[in-house]
Amino acid sequence: MKHYSIAIDGPAGAGKSTIARKVAKHLNFIYVDTGAMYRAMALYFIHNNIEAKDKDGIEKACNNVDVSIEYKDNEQQILLNGENVNNLIRTEAVGNMASASSVYPVVRLKLAELQRSLAKKENVVMDGREIGTFVLPDADLKIFLTASSKERAKRRFLELKERGISADIDEIEKDITERDYRDMNREFAPLKQADDGILVDSSHMTIDEVVETIIKHFESIR
Ligand code: C5P
Repeated sequence: MKHYSIAIDGPAGAGKSTIARKVAKHLNFIYVDTGAMYRAMALYFIHNNIEAKDKDGIEKACNNVDVSIEYKDNEQQILLNGENVNNLIRTEAVGNMASASSVYPVVRLKLAELQRSLAKKENVVMDGREIGTFVLPDADLKIFLTASSKERAKRRFLELKERGISADIDEIEKDITERDYRDMNREFAPLKQADDGILVDSSHMTIDEVVETIIKHFESIR
């Protein structure tokens, strides 16, 4: 049976997870959040005092880490060595470690294998950085979702504010720009638009407009 896959790649804070989740819900597909997998690996490195620059330590640790996912009420649950870590991976410290440790091919290959096996079994909307270029080069639809760094920083700032967390918008933008740089300049499977990917700049679009755009593209190829 044919399984459809939609890849949504783009830089940090472009709204990929919100959009991918909505597109998946609309189409009744599974939403796969690959960032959460990098975050779960990062949590393991942090808990085991392995620094991001310790290449050997990271390589060795990869043999001891098992990351898997399951779904509860349609929400992806991420399991690290069998333990549900969904509530532990959304901190800045884990995000920074995920960004730094995701440069290593050994980390990426391990997670790419898990991501490909999911896409083989299910209709998926998968968001990440290199899903359309590396993980699922034959994806049915590839979207490169972006927005200006100013707009992404503003969205992140408002999101934190809503959760009662104060933050400096310029600091957030600086952090976003640094992450973009690392994601786009790593040697192995960097962040870039696939040759056959469709660019969607959401700087001046609402969430629903972006979702509608992606669904229209999908309906046109289905
Ligand atoms: O998307 P999210 O912020 O949860 O991802 C955390 C980090 O994991 C990112 O900063 C990025 O460096 C890395 N990542 C990646 N490839 C993916 C998903 C995330 O390198 N497919």
